Amino acid sequence: MSRIAVHRIPVLQDNYSYLIEDTQEKTCVVVDPAEAGPVNAAIEQLGLKPVMLWNTHHHADHIDGNPGVLDRAGSIPVYGSAGDRGRIPQLTHFLQAGDGLEFGGDMVRVLEVPGHTRSHVAYYLPSGHLFSGDLLFGYSCGKVFEGSMEDMYRSVAQVAQLPDETLIYCGHEYTLNNRCFAETVEPDNPDHKTRAASETAPPTVPLQLGQEKKTNPFLRWHVPAVQAFTGKTEPAEVFGELRRRKDNF
Ligand code: ZN
Ligand code: FE
Repeated sequence: MSRIAVHRIPVLQDNYSYLIEDTQEKTCVVVDPAEAGPVNAAIEQLGLKPVMLWNTHHHADHIDGNPGVLDRAGSIPVYGSAGDRGRIPQLTHFLQAGDGLEFGGDMVRVLEVPGHTRSHVAYYLPSGHLFSGDLLFGYSCGKVFEGSMEDMYRSVAQVAQLPDETLIYCGHEYTLNNRCFAETVEPDNPDHKTRAASETAPPTVPLQLGQEKKTNPFLRWHVPAVQAFTGKTEPAEVFGELRRRKDNF
């Protein structure tokens, strides 16, 4: 039985920070505190003791609440990508692919998922939770700012191998804005109708990996209709072409 409960905290315009609660110990991990106020309020309201802070990447809308959370929580360890040394001032622990952390009875697996930024990590809890920052969004993926299309393709493909039941806790509520592009790529995909009927208003997060694999074009580089839309067949090229078209959509 998993001891994990996840609390989603809306912050800024459309960001999510998260608290991962160990329901047995009443401790929590703070994930990507974009702003400290709402995160500290949630910690207090739930009566939790923060024991770790996890950052996915260095962007301000994922780390600006670090100092304010640490002010209240004391000197708890702060984890992030080894590549973000110097870019996230509060980091105390520098992660690489395959590093393991333990929380709430889960052996957490660290995935390196560069592309949106050149260093970006995701945290996978085998009880079925993935904290993925700006890697994947509903129907889409993060913009490729610092890495290459090839990096981003490999990062997304890595996550696609997790179990379909995996719940994806992403950094932004973008799902409904992204739907139109996905439907344009695959107008005849029947799973689009099913999803649109059942998902009509935010919040849409956590996403479910199995559902994304059926409807998110950025996980469907192997599907003939998606290949036809892009005019490419090689997976990384299909992916890159989708990303470029979405940027200009
Ligand atoms: Zn970002
Ligand atoms: Fe972001």
